[in-house]
Amino acid sequence: MATAESLRHVLTQFEVAAERLGLDAGLRRRLLACERALIVSVPTVRDDGQLQVFTGYRVQHNNTLGPAKGGVRYHPDVTLDSMTALAMLMTWKCALMGLPYGGAKGGIACDPRTMSRRELERMTRRYTTEIFLIIGPDMDIPAPDMGTDEQIMAWMMDTYSMQRGVTVPGVVTGKPLLLGGSLGRREATGRGVYYVAVEAAKVLGVTLEGARVAIQGFGNVGRTVAQQLKQEGCRIVAVTGSRGGRFQADGLDLDRLLDYVAGGARLEECPIGDRITNAELFGLPCEILVPAAIGGQVNEANADRIRARILVEGANAPTTLEADAILRERGVLVIPDILANAGGVTVSYFEWVQDLQFYFWSEREINLRLREIMSQAFQRVQAAAEQHAVDLRTAALILSVQRVAQGHRLRGLYP
Ligand code: NAD
Repeated sequence: MATAESLRHVLTQFEVAAERLGLDAGLRRRLLACERALIVSVPTVRDDGQLQVFTGYRVQHNNTLGPAKGGVRYHPDVTLDSMTALAMLMTWKCALMGLPYGGAKGGIACDPRTMSRRELERMTRRYTTEIFLIIGPDMDIPAPDMGTDEQIMAWMMDTYSMQRGVTVPGVVTGKPLLLGGSLGRREATGRGVYYVAVEAAKVLGVTLEGARVAIQGFGNVGRTVAQQLKQEGCRIVAVTGSRGGRFQADGLDLDRLLDYVAGGARLEECPIGDRITNAELFGLPCEILVPAAIGGQVNEANADRIRARILVEGANAPTTLEADAILRERGVLVIPDILANAGGVTVSYFEWVQDLQFYFWSEREINLRLREIMSQAFQRVQAAAEQHAVDLRTAALILSVQRVAQGHRLRGLYP
């Protein structure tokens, strides 16, 4: 989704919720404004000795309910607008899940695939130093996002800790386990998607045993969702990556598919089932469709072909505003991103809590707590949807905006 489009999307969603809540104009202005946005230059020496200056951002949308929380993205499309839109989404997501956080997002406009590990390390350390003043475990806690990973979080944690003179694991989440990461963090988003899919299936009376599932995106989120739903008895009929994927009507052999991909094969070329394009995936007859790749994939071009009963948004903003209206009209139950993919930030919260206490939980405990939080959030959203006679996305936004608005009212306006 283009940058300006993603911002329009988030702002339109906010206005719908604000209207329903009858928020006054002043409060709306406060909730729309970003509390802080830092643009930094990130000079980095490339391996060939050339100096390149990248542009980095850290946007804190709202800190009313606690320190800001949000990912760091390394991607050529990173701009102030896209970071602002994603920071605002994080505010709503954390509020919806009842986490004591505000929302933030940051990143660098760069193409990490063209950079060596040494270059990435130099760039990450300089970026962390540039945003040092506004991050910290009680201020703003970054996490991985597109183009960043555990290693980059380890460099951020180390850079911050060196500047502070003490080791501060709670400054970032999504770290390696050895440095204060949490068990279950890597699979958390996919697990959360699976937990809400189970809840949605109950609502519609869909039996999971034998249910057909199609998934776009076979990365961290898509793979975990596929594995979890398969364990539940579902048939994973199709999975795709950026160049298409594989389809098998009676269910793909996931273990073999994962083995091929782990062995370096391209997903669409694995000799299991038949080849399928992304466009074809969206038209498949299935009970559950999970877009878990990038934004804007469910759009006017395919929304009227979607034959799923439940669409669970694993990705952030995978459905355009226009497609959302079409799906609503056609009776597809859409579980919105701020609910469906909130498992990641929820276990990030667990990681931060464990870091602050220097006491670590078992994976079983983490998964049980995650399931409870996801299921309860789903039920709150479902109840709000019934109460206000709206779709789940609007209901989720009503609950989150209401929570942040109430926080503002209670805190008042300083000075
Ligand atoms: P990933 O990089 O591990 O996997 C992304 C997948 O999407 C890959 O299979 C890739 O081939 C596919 N893809 C990329 N471009 C595509 C295109 N144009 N068409 C079809 N497929 C395409 O990423 P991930 O961590 O699995 O994240 C997936 C989505 O979930 C993203 O939108 C991300 O913002 C969102 N999300 C992730 C987390 C998390 O904890 N990982 C948390 C919240 C939201």
